[in-house]
Amino acid sequence: MRALIAGNWKMNGLAADVERIAAPLAASGPPAGCDLLVCPPATILREVGRVLAGSAVALGAQDCHPAPSGAHTGDLSAAMLRDAGATWVILGHSERRADHGEGDALVRAKAAAAAAAGLTPIVCVGETEAQRVAGEHLGIVRGQLAGSLPDDFAGVVAYEPVWAIGTGRNASEADVAEMHAAVREALITRFAGRGAAVRILYGGSVKPANAAALLAVKDVGGALVGGASLNAADFLAIARAAPRA
Ligand code: PEP
Repeated sequence: MRALIAGNWKMNGLAADVERIAAPLAASGPPAGCDLLVCPPATILREVGRVLAGSAVALGAQDCHPAPSGAHTGDLSAAMLRDAGATWVILGHSERRADHGEGDALVRAKAAAAAAAGLTPIVCVGETEAQRVAGEHLGIVRGQLAGSLPDDFAGVVAYEPVWAIGTGRNASEADVAEMHAAVREALITRFAGRGAAVRILYGGSVKPANAAALLAVKDVGGALVGGASLNAADFLAIARAAPRA
């Protein structure tokens, strides 16, 4: 399985930053055996797409609305993001679940809308620190998967423990192995052979220094990278740490 290294720029990046971050990625391209994806804010999707044009680095967005169009002020449909050049979209990120009260049913509707518009969804799941301390982490993530993935899901899952995002505290390799095995089992139980082929990314303070160890864990099919994806050299170093397909 080829690793996918996806960069989530979150609410960072102006037009003036595009060249600095995206041009080195376009010049390098994905390391052999690895897929590379950048997800900038929607305001600069086209600019980033222009810089990446001709390279094999893919372009994605960070959210979409579940409806195809209509009276939803301030929102963006999947078709609009596809029109701006995106072919991927991150959905159900814990920051959206927390900041915007997004629940599993909404994430599921967004995933269906994304697929209908030709976008590949990356659906994020992950427990809070309190849930992990209470020993509820596996049940929480199983529930998020059951509720957030449509029946015809054909995308990527990202396991991102909330307490590891942007904190510098990545999950241990043992914790990642336990969770990724549980996610794989849930995907196979629900989707049979299709579930065995879904890439399961780990996200949460992935850096060049810890990437090789995290990416080598069984059933880790890549990384969703926040902070370190804003530095092209760090992002490429993480991608180079991925095991070869
Ligand atoms: C993320 O935004 O999905 C993420 C994992 O962020 P960071 O790498 O900064 O922890």
